[in-house]
Amino acid sequence: MDFELTDEQRRLQRIARDFAYREIRPLATELDRKQGQESFPLELLRRASRLGLRTMRVPREHGGLGTDLLTEAIVMEEIAVGDCGFAMTLAHAWREGYLLACHTSPEQRRRFLPEFMADDTYLTAYALTEEHAGSDHGLPYAGDLEAGMRTSAVLEGDHWVINGRKRFITNGNVARLIVLFARTDPTVAWTEGISCFLVPSDAPGLRVGRFEDKLGLRLNQNVELIFEGCRVPRENLVGVLNRGHELAEAVGPGSKVREGARALGVARACYEHALTWCRERVQGGRRLAEHQLIASILAEMATEIELARSLLWRAAWAVDHDPDHHRPLEDMVKQTTSELAVRTATRTMQLFGARGALREHPIEKLMRDAATIMLPPMGTYASRVRLSRWLLAHPTVGPLLSAAEPQPAG
Ligand SMILES: Cc1cc2nc3c(=O)[nH]c(=O)nc-3n(C[C@H](O)[C@H](O)[C@H](O)COP(=O)(O)OP(=O)(O)OC[C@H]3O[C@@H](n4cnc5c(N)ncnc54)[C@H](O)[C@@H]3O)c2cc1C
Repeated sequence: MDFELTDEQRRLQRIARDFAYREIRPLATELDRKQGQESFPLELLRRASRLGLRTMRVPREHGGLGTDLLTEAIVMEEIAVGDCGFAMTLAHAWREGYLLACHTSPEQRRRFLPEFMADDTYLTAYALTEEHAGSDHGLPYAGDLEAGMRTSAVLEGDHWVINGRKRFITNGNVARLIVLFARTDPTVAWTEGISCFLVPSDAPGLRVGRFEDKLGLRLNQNVELIFEGCRVPRENLVGVLNRGHELAEAVGPGSKVREGARALGVARACYEHALTWCRERVQGGRRLAEHQLIASILAEMATEIELARSLLWRAAWAVDHDPDHHRPLEDMVKQTTSELAVRTATRTMQLFGARGALREHPIEKLMRDAATIMLPPMGTYASRVRLSRWLLAHPTVGPLLSAAEPQPAG
């Protein structure tokens, strides 16, 4: 494991950092206050795409940059320093773009990938969650027929007919293509009986329902999708019938690393505001940063951010190189970074004194973003449960989760 960044990683980090401070942050402050789809950052998306950031995960042979997860984590942190919601929008283009390039049939690739690559505003969505089914999808309860999604897809002639509703779908109202998971065998537990479909946003029978008006991450569009007799050609089934859970598991690794990088970006943005302020604000004849207690709080904030980044990069590396251990590391990342973002935002608010309570102050948005980022993709609590399941099944001592064979406990 070598964390000396490559020239390409440094180049992308520089591009993303520059873009975040100069372009994303000023516009995000404005868009954050708008309602509904007015908060969608179309121009930022176009600009990100022209910088190569929208399609960077797609392998080089298909026109992308073929980035690995560590590179994604580095870029995502920078974008999230600018705006965490916009970073989430881009993350979907990375994951679903990769799915289109690497998990579809050659015929599906020919139909969908060229347009995805060519159109700077082409976005995708990933639809799992339903009204009654959320964490179930990340924490499968073996054999439970009631758990999981209920949206159904039934083959009628040459078409799949889809019925059901999905909630909280990122990009659902602005995506051109929905990667949809639906039950194709209702007689077995969802893990055994779901399949994945490519649903164009103009498919007959698909419409956008309620706009999920969130506290934070407001640039990230989030809607309900309603499927009423929605028809897609039978060739739009991705992978093997009823093996959608395996496909989601194959595409899923890395989602908590991306989530963690976004939370880290929020924590870093808070810290940077705090540091600037504490170097300027004078109380008791000295700058705040020269008061010992404040200096120690700033030092602790910086240390925690650096610690979280080390864990995050380690987990990103594991997704790419150490498949047996990426999952527990990702769950650790989810908790560490989500809680870090909230803690750093709260401390920053206190450092700003009364100004920290003003709605016009940047910390107000960061507090809302930090609180919201704890929730997807399955929340820190469910993530902790998943980690504990892994730990119970793998009693180890020594360098836990190293790529080397762990030593048995006791
Ligand atoms: C900003 C945002 C973007 C999203 N984007 C998408 C998207 O693009 N596609 C999509 O499909 N979904 C999306 N979601 C939905 C998200 O995946 C769900 O919120 C998530 O799966 C959790 O489901 P839930 O909200 O129904 O909570 P629930 O599953 O009802 O859980 C409620 C609480 O209980 C905890 N919990 C659950 N089970 C356990 C357990 N066994 N033990 C202890 N605690 C537990 C959870 O951690 C959570 O804190 C998004 C959500 C948000 C907020």
